[in-house]
Amino acid sequence: MQKKEVTIFGAGMSGMVAAIDLARHGYKVIIHDREKGFGGDPRYNPSVHTTPIDIATTSEYIGIDVSPSFNPLIRCPIYFHDTCIHPPVDMVFAVERGNRASSLDTLLLNIAVKEGVEFEFNSELSLEKIKGLPENTIIACGLREDAYQLLGIPYIPCYGWCSMGECGFSDYAWVWFDECITEYGYMTATNNYYFDLLFSLTPVSPEALQRYKSFTKRMEGVEHENWRYLVGGVVPMASSDNPRLRHRGLILCGTISGFMDPFAWFGIHGGLLSGKVAAMAVYDPQTAQREFDRFNKNFKIVHFLKRHIWSKLRPRVNMFEKPISLIGASRLDNLISKMMRRVNPHGTKPLPFPYTVTRQDVQNLRQNASL
Ligand SMILES: Cc1cc2nc3c(=O)[nH]c(=O)nc-3n(C[C@H](O)[C@H](O)[C@H](O)COP(=O)(O)OP(=O)(O)OC[C@H]3O[C@@H](n4cnc5c(N)ncnc54)[C@H](O)[C@@H]3O)c2cc1C
Repeated sequence: MQKKEVTIFGAGMSGMVAAIDLARHGYKVIIHDREKGFGGDPRYNPSVHTTPIDIATTSEYIGIDVSPSFNPLIRCPIYFHDTCIHPPVDMVFAVERGNRASSLDTLLLNIAVKEGVEFEFNSELSLEKIKGLPENTIIACGLREDAYQLLGIPYIPCYGWCSMGECGFSDYAWVWFDECITEYGYMTATNNYYFDLLFSLTPVSPEALQRYKSFTKRMEGVEHENWRYLVGGVVPMASSDNPRLRHRGLILCGTISGFMDPFAWFGIHGGLLSGKVAAMAVYDPQTAQREFDRFNKNFKIVHFLKRHIWSKLRPRVNMFEKPISLIGASRLDNLISKMMRRVNPHGTKPLPFPYTVTRQDVQNLRQNASL
């Protein structure tokens, strides 16, 4: 019997998770990607991302062991100007993206190829193509503005400076808050490769970059060169109604479906989970919609908190700095550690972040599949 065919646009993380799951369910899967090879957008890849994640349970949920690509962080100081706290980093991981051998994309690509998934590179989603796409086509185009424009999905543009390359340290990160950007500066290193990003919702001046560079040199003793300016990365945060599994007859997958933490914009755990959910939308639409709605149930409230409360507090970096200086950074570190140990005594419980998966979720899914 001829296999049913599914077309996917976007050979990134979520697109490949969806493809692997569909191939395992007996579908012939073809992934199209606008780039000439795998590894995503070359404007900022290879890169390293940080995410809180319960990687064992997430792997079980999606049915793919992605844990070899996730390395636990050793430290992640958070700076408000030069004042710093060290929150515990249990369940916080660094993951490499792009086309290097140690990346998550390489791990997924190898599994996808083994499962018989076919790839067509240099094949961009376009208005012409959208008109003729078969039912159940999956769109997993990540954070590129053109796909959002083509599909009429509300987005917010981001701006920033990034620098990346080989380095002599791993599994270390920092975060920096300052008035010169609306979001944050952060560096993560893993597999002896670093990615440093200073990003904002407003254009970031060369003076702001200079300020960040002087901070990293002063406080971390690190100087990165080869900075490039990034424009055109977008996030689906323009509206609190952004999360959508189905749109104009297509299935959305990954960040473009709004499956992204609306506060700090962590997109890795949402991307992985939504790959599985988008695949389910092909062979079990009801469960897929239920899972999509369940995972995204807090999107509206968190989106509201970020837009209407955090955005008012965030520009006052001094306001965060003062209590740290008053209480003492190391005393505050101890307090935060104790509080986190109370909630999570062995450092192994899933964090209460959006898109946390529990063992119960995995069991429910299995039960559902066997009905
Ligand atoms: C610079 C940067 C830093 C980030 N840092 C973090 C972090 O530290 N922690 C975290 O949790 N999240 C982070 N994120 C967010 C996270 O990486 C994304 O949310 C996640 O990778 C999205 O996965 P995805 O599968 O949706 O898309 P991707 O993995 O980005 O894949 C999208 C694919 O679609 C292809 N594509 C795009 N447009 C088209 C088109 N028109 N036609 C065909 N193919 C197309 C691309 O080439 C790419 O291969 C960051 C994002 C960026 C951009």
